[in-house]
Amino acid sequence: MRIRSIFGVFLLACGLTACAWGESKATPVTLTVLYDNQGTHESLTKDWGFSCLIRGLDKVILFDTGAKGPILVENARRLGVNLSEVDIVVLSHAHGDHAGGLGALLEQVPKAVVYLPPDPSPIVRRQTAARTAQVFPAAQQNRELCPGAILTGVLGEKIKEHALALRSPRGWVILTGCAHPGIERIVEKVADSIGGRIHLIAGGFHLLDKTPAEVEAVAARLKELKVQKAAPSHCTGASAVNILKAKFGADFVSLGLGVTVVID
Ligand SMILES: [Zn+2]
Ligand SMILES: [Zn+2]
Repeated sequence: MRIRSIFGVFLLACGLTACAWGESKATPVTLTVLYDNQGTHESLTKDWGFSCLIRGLDKVILFDTGAKGPILVENARRLGVNLSEVDIVVLSHAHGDHAGGLGALLEQVPKAVVYLPPDPSPIVRRQTAARTAQVFPAAQQNRELCPGAILTGVLGEKIKEHALALRSPRGWVILTGCAHPGIERIVEKVADSIGGRIHLIAGGFHLLDKTPAEVEAVAARLKELKVQKAAPSHCTGASAVNILKAKFGADFVSLGLGVTVVID
């Protein structure tokens, strides 16, 4: 059926994109992993950490910066990514494998808007104070960084972290750094406070220290929450990745250094 009423189209758009968080239509979102310890790309440097570039929204967002600035910069260059196009930098949490590349990044984009992690290190505070005029501390409430990009409020107690929800034509894409508060907690937070379909969860899920039974339980909860696709990387752990692969089947997305995922 190719003909659809205007009213029907409006309902479809709102249902997929949660109109409460901005009225603009969802556009294709592209994720490119610039830093990861997981992956098979031969000409890039694998290293423990995570960084992911997000294109397709009004602003170009870099989610986390990896551990070492020179590796981030060189991986970006080899992937044909010009880091000077970054408008917004989000640090998911204070660990060095996510915030360590910030200094090198800000040398290339001193005017980038920076969303700090909860409890930032003195180094990160100094780097942002020296380089950029717009620095925002972590907040308890969700915040819209630009239309279609929502930074969740802070989660967790011991290791605090926030995650990024991106509106795509297929539903929300949730990007996590290490998911220390629990990947299922983060998804619950997005489901409860934003609502709408969750199309993809991507990033580090930190299931390294879990037993297979615990990982199975997490996977079952993600399914219960109607997460359609999963793209675990970084600190998820090889055996947990295999369990998620089995659980999600054709909806498992292989993520890693140099991988680009287009959600359209
Ligand atoms: Zn990490
Ligand atoms: Zn971490």
